[in-house]
Amino acid sequence: MEELAKMRYDKGDTEVLVGAWDTTGDKPMKCPKCGKNMIIVQVEPVYDADNAYVPYDTIIECTSCPFKIRAESFTLLGGVKDFSSNHVEIGSWSPSGSRVLSDYEHVLDYDLLKELKESEELVEFLVVNKHVVEVIG
Ligand SMILES: [Zn+2]
Repeated sequence: MEELAKMRYDKGDTEVLVGAWDTTGDKPMKCPKCGKNMIIVQVEPVYDADNAYVPYDTIIECTSCPFKIRAESFTLLGGVKDFSSNHVEIGSWSPSGSRVLSDYEHVLDYDLLKELKESEELVEFLVVNKHVVEVIG
């Protein structure tokens, strides 16, 4: 665990991380070092009174080599209000029940976003280091 303590949430890591995602959502994340599958390990919640969600201190590690990235992740239930090639606006609710619009960078598939926007379906988004990387269910 000592090695992890030294890791930081830096921009370089986020780029590596986002690049590791398969945008069609069909395949698991691949390790940028060895190409094997990576898994997400959520460690503990990061308490922040300003957030409408609970972010988790998250380790994403390779199942085969020692490569790992530390990140902050959370899931957000909401609908796609609007999107561009690299930004998505998600409409959701705060714990008090008021409407919240959030804008994130994303690595999602264009057709998937188009479909979600048209259907106004509520889905869960996985957000890692402020990037929407996956739609769950
Ligand atoms: Zn690896």
